[in-house]
Amino acid sequence: MNTAFRLPALLLILMATALPVVAADAARPDWLALATQDPQSRALLEKAIGKLGLKNFDDLLAYVKVCDLSKVSSTLTGQTDQSSQTVVEYATEAELRSGKEPGDYFQGRLAAEQAELHAHGARVIDVHPDYVREQFWVDPSICLRAGMAPMQTYETFIHELTHLVETDQLADEDMLAYVDFDDYALQTILAPGSEVDAFIAGTAAHS
Ligand SMILES: [Zn+2]
Repeated sequence: MNTAFRLPALLLILMATALPVVAADAARPDWLALATQDPQSRALLEKAIGKLGLKNFDDLLAYVKVCDLSKVSSTLTGQTDQSSQTVVEYATEAELRSGKEPGDYFQGRLAAEQAELHAHGARVIDVHPDYVREQFWVDPSICLRAGMAPMQTYETFIHELTHLVETDQLADEDMLAYVDFDDYALQTILAPGSEVDAFIAGTAAHS
């Protein structure tokens, strides 16, 4: 039984509106064209395509969308979604009574979960099976607020791309390492690829 598998709303939006991957030199949005022209932003793009295993900058268009953020916030300019889903599987009482190995049920259901993710266009980056739970990391997505001025869209793109590139989404977080909530908040915004880094990269790209 799947008790904890939820595709985040943004991922669904990404899937529902997935752009076809366009060839290099096809119509490139301004924010991507600008990023290729600035050496620092270009280095960030190169890290991004390396991390995502893409062939060229235009392949990033499958991960970045200009979309409606008004339901999330009236002021938010962009959002990066780097998500993982934990799937918890277990045998039912009837299955246990049938005498079969619980692991057989578990493996079969996980295979079905993975097939479903693939069918929705998500890529399973890493899987940690331990016969109780399995964690799927799926590709990140970036949403840029529709209707912004080109330079603001560009700055937001670089800000969000910094989160995507510099954050280690596979890292296990040790919540006990924080002294209290304030410490957690401070360490979180100072962490590599977090708000401070992204703010600096975004404003540097803008100037
Ligand atoms: Zn941010």
